[in-house]
Formats: sequence, C-alpha cells, structure tokens
Amino acid sequence: MITYEQCQQWDAEDKLADLKSQFDLPEGVIYLDGNSLGAKPKQALACAQDVINQQWGTDLINSWNKAGWWDLPVRLGNKIGKLVGARENETVVTDTTSMNLFKVLAAAIGIQQQQDPQRKVIIAERDSFPTDLYMIQGFMALINQGYQLKLIDHPHALPEYINEQTAVIVLSHINYRTGYLHDMAAINQQAHAHGALLIWDLCHSIGAVPIDLNGSNSDFAIGCTYKYLNGGPGAPAMLWVHSQYQTAFNQPLSGWWGHAKPFDMAVNYTPANNVRRFLCGTQPIVSMSLVECGVNIFLQTDMQAVRQKSLQLTDLLIKLIEQECGGFGLTLITPREHSHRGSHISVRHCHGYEIVQALIAHGVIGDYREPEVIRLGITPLYLSFTDIWQAVQCLKQVLETKQWAQPQFQTRRQVT
Ligand SMILES: *Cc1c(COP(=O)(O)O)cnc(C)c1O
Repeated sequence: MITYEQCQQWDAEDKLADLKSQFDLPEGVIYLDGNSLGAKPKQALACAQDVINQQWGTDLINSWNKAGWWDLPVRLGNKIGKLVGARENETVVTDTTSMNLFKVLAAAIGIQQQQDPQRKVIIAERDSFPTDLYMIQGFMALINQGYQLKLIDHPHALPEYINEQTAVIVLSHINYRTGYLHDMAAINQQAHAHGALLIWDLCHSIGAVPIDLNGSNSDFAIGCTYKYLNGGPGAPAMLWVHSQYQTAFNQPLSGWWGHAKPFDMAVNYTPANNVRRFLCGTQPIVSMSLVECGVNIFLQTDMQAVRQKSLQLTDLLIKLIEQECGGFGLTLITPREHSHRGSHISVRHCHGYEIVQALIAHGVIGDYREPEVIRLGITPLYLSFTDIWQAVQCLKQVLETKQWAQPQFQTRRQVT
C-alpha cells in the first residue's frame, strides 16, 4: 500500500523539487498536460517584455543584429541540441514540426534518389500522430513518383517491413497516445542495415527522456518545443540533421533564410553550407525568443535526473490507479517496462472523455485522445509525488460518485 505520507516523504527527498518555483501555475491546479502544452516559465514574461519593449519597441530594425534575431534559430538550436546529443550547428529552431517533417523527408528522399532510386517505400506507424502521415501523403502526392506509404500496426512489426525497397522510415520516438518508447539506437541500426534512412519525431520525447541523436547514429529528427520544453503555445519547432547529411541534399522550401548569402539578393538560390539551409523565411521572433526560457530550466539539471523522476512518477501513477481505482473499468495502455515507457500514462475507459472533463472541473488537467484514452502527462520539473496522489484521489472520487455522467461533461469541445 502506498500512502500519502509516503508521497510526502518522496517529495522531501526530491532533488528536482525546487525547479517548480521557476514556473507559474495557477493555485489549486495539478497540471497533467505538459505533454500537450508545457507550463509557463516565470522568466517568459520578462523575456517577452524585453523582446517587445526593448528589442522591437526601442531598438527596432537594429535588433536583427544587436539582439541576434538573425542567428536566433541556430543559437536556440544549439541550446536544445545539448538535450538531444547534437553536435554544434546540427540543430535549428524554426517553423512547425509538420513543416520540418516535410523538409527533412524531402532531403532524405533526395539522398535516396541519388544513391538508390529503386527504393520507393516510406514506412510509418498507423498510430503516428496524424500530421506526420498527412505530411508524408502530401509530399508523395506532390512529387508523384510512385512512392508507397506502408503503415505498420505494431512497433514489433517493424523489422519485417524494412527491406531493400525501404527509402525512409518516419517514427515517433514516443507514441503520443500510448506513450510507447522506441529503442532509438536499435532501430537506427536495423534501418541502416537495409540502407534505409530514418526520421525521428521527438515531439513527445524531447525534454521527457534522455536522447542521444549522434550516439544512437540517427539521421534526421524533428520535434516540438511547446510540449515538454515549455516554449509557449505554437512556439516554433526544432529540426536536427546529422552533419553528414546537411549538405548532401537540399530541402525544397528554398526560401531566402536558407540561402548562402541572403543579403546578396541574388536571383538564383544557393543553399547555405550548413544547417541554415533548413530555414525558409522570416521567423516568428517574439514566439521563438520565449523558447529559451523553458530550455534554460532544463539546462539547470540533466536529462538523466529528469528521466529518473519521470519513471518514479509514472510508476507511482500506475500503482495508485491500480490501488485506488480498481474495479472501475480502467485499462492501462502504456507499457509497464521502463525501457518502453515515455513520460505520460494513458488509460482507457469507455467514458474517458467525460471523466477528463470532470477531472478538469476539479483542477486536475489531463486530456483525452480517441479512442477512449485518458492521457496524463508527467513533467518532473513541476510535478510532485503528492500531486500524483491528489490527482488519483480526484479520479477516484469522479469514478465513485459517477460525476462524469453529469450533463456539463458530455459536450465535446473543439480541442479535447
Ligand atoms: C504534437 C505533435 C505534432 C505537432 O505538430 P505541429 O506541426 O506542431 O502541429 C507532431 N507530431 C507529433 C508526434 C506530436 O506529438
């Protein structure tokens, strides 16, 4: 039996506990949705004020040089790169994850077309976050060269699918719905053994688990900054390309920010000789500037410590749900093995949507994903062991009293 006192004890021993004070969270809220929109770092407001008042308001156009706006995508990329095992100048912050997938997919297919044009199969998971599949479909329709998208139904099926026809594999490092975590190094090895290139979508793993892109011999990666990294709503995404591929092929969104000499204002496009060639046009400086605030908090600790607490918290959440909420029809869909578990817990319930709405009404904020999935995100920087206890007590109460059946929890909103 786990008790509240035990959770208090773990809080007292928690070496990351102090980091919570660097976030602004409303009183009385237990935020279990940092995997969808990270919480606001306190520093963000001062940063926004500086960017808007000083850099924009006072320094005006000078800020492209003076405040380093022009270099911001690479400077921030290098900071985030420290969290994912990148070398200097392999990472940029730019555009959206969806757009970045398009760019790296085009680059990867371009490399394969030069090396081995017979490869015409792209592999992804049916359970991918849909935008990944949509972007692949859009890219295939655009180039119209007989590429085929093969969807696998279970991560274990991957080895059977990879062969000499495979051009590119697109995988989520951690599945957004189930929280399944892939073994990055092992899969890279399988892909490379057959000559395939791999694109990792890190949206649910960057800032959630330790990642070593170079150590695991990865090719390309993309990912969000507004989830675990706490970059702010709609903050631009990251894009990482292994140094060996940076200049191997160009991406087709060849805007002037990716040009070797943008201010030559040349008629013809010449790509920059580095990761800047993955930039397209003028970047959203205000939003991008805030990304740094979240990353700065991560750089005060290390991803091993974050992972250790994340596993302690997800273990606790699983055990408490079983201990306190047995017999209410909840089914765990997140892997129990640490080696395959990300940093959120998903449980299925036939009234999952209504339960999530009832929890939110009590200040326990998680979210709902089709079909029937209650998703509870674990962000070790601002969650405590007693938070998990309280969240499960609230879940128990909602289930015991059948509060979820109240009419106000039945209406589907635009964003679930
Ligand atoms: C959140 C998420 C995205 C979002 O892409 P955007 O372009 O930022 O909307 C993409 N892929 C995965 C796996 C995600 O979890």
